[in-house]
Amino acid sequence: MAEEPLDCLIVGAGPAGLTAAIYLARFHLDIRVVDAGNSRAGLIPKTRNHAGFPEGISGPNLLRRMNQQARIYGARIEEGEVTAIARDDDLFHISTSDGEVVARSILLATGVVNIRPEMRAEVHDQALARGLIRYCPICDAYEVTDLPVGVIGSGEHGVREAIFLRGYTADLALIAPAGPHELDDAQRALLEQAGIAAIDGPAHNFQLAADHIQVDTAAGTRSFASIYPALGSVIRSELARSLGAEASDEGCLVVDDHQRTSIAGLYAAGDVVKGLDQISHAMGEGGVAATTIRNDLARRHPFMR
Ligand SMILES: Cc1cc2nc3c(=O)[nH]c(=O)nc-3n(C[C@H](O)[C@H](O)[C@H](O)COP(=O)(O)OP(=O)(O)OC[C@H]3O[C@@H](n4cnc5c(N)ncnc54)[C@H](O)[C@@H]3O)c2cc1C
Repeated sequence: MAEEPLDCLIVGAGPAGLTAAIYLARFHLDIRVVDAGNSRAGLIPKTRNHAGFPEGISGPNLLRRMNQQARIYGARIEEGEVTAIARDDDLFHISTSDGEVVARSILLATGVVNIRPEMRAEVHDQALARGLIRYCPICDAYEVTDLPVGVIGSGEHGVREAIFLRGYTADLALIAPAGPHELDDAQRALLEQAGIAAIDGPAHNFQLAADHIQVDTAAGTRSFASIYPALGSVIRSELARSLGAEASDEGCLVVDDHQRTSIAGLYAAGDVVKGLDQISHAMGEGGVAATTIRNDLARRHPFMR
């Protein structure tokens, strides 16, 4: 006999997908989570802005605890990759690295990937673990208050990030990643007014010391307490877009107030949706998505015990 379709397949076990898994499992729904194992939260050495943890908590520890909580209520969480999704009437046919799955609904919680500066992977990972490279000023710029900070970037995005950081420190430089800066007169004036040095690249030869990171630029070697890459992100929305789901120009999924994408039965939560790329926001969207999924499914197949 063919297996019953899942009520929901969740793609991604970061804060968004795991929150949804906890809710959906506690709604007594038949769900599965498939996760490729590279949550951005897994890169956080210690988050200090996530409410409820006054001493801070590491990203991997937070994920472990959420994973454990979801399993207590029966969520199946599997390592693997979802490679394709097809829709047929009311059902989704999902190809994963472990075979085919059929589900009544899908929650995409696939997140984004930060674009890294040109540097060796092991140097990058060490720098990240020690707070010498940081990716999220909203999360952790507090930790570099009044310290020398470099931003690798240029153009509108680089200037925006540098100006945001100006609220934390006056000792700031914006370094172009690959060559001369691409800045218009207004951007140069804004940087000058804020006292932010604009240094041409390429930014290369990153060297780590006990409490600082050095980088070679066209103006010589510079040293910082921390460097923030502002090079953009790759939005992991291709599975939804392959079904025709509406997305922004950058690739962020467009959802309604209840996390529904433009494809019936397909929901999205977390960084893959345009919004504040934060753990709390991803969790909130995961909770909203799960409740919507439950109520939308109940309209088609009322749940009774
Ligand atoms: C260095 C760093 C520090 C940060 N610090 C903080 C902080 O202090 N506070 C804060 O609030 N936020 C912080 N953030 C941001 C936070 O990590 C993200 O906002 C959060 O992880 C988003 O959760 P998510 O569930 O949307 O995506 P993610 O956590 O990125 O999880 C997405 C998951 O989907 C999986 N996936 C993707 N595609 C597939 C596929 N096809 N098949 C199967 N699985 C797939 C991935 O493997 C991944 O596990 C930080 C981010 C970084 C990079």
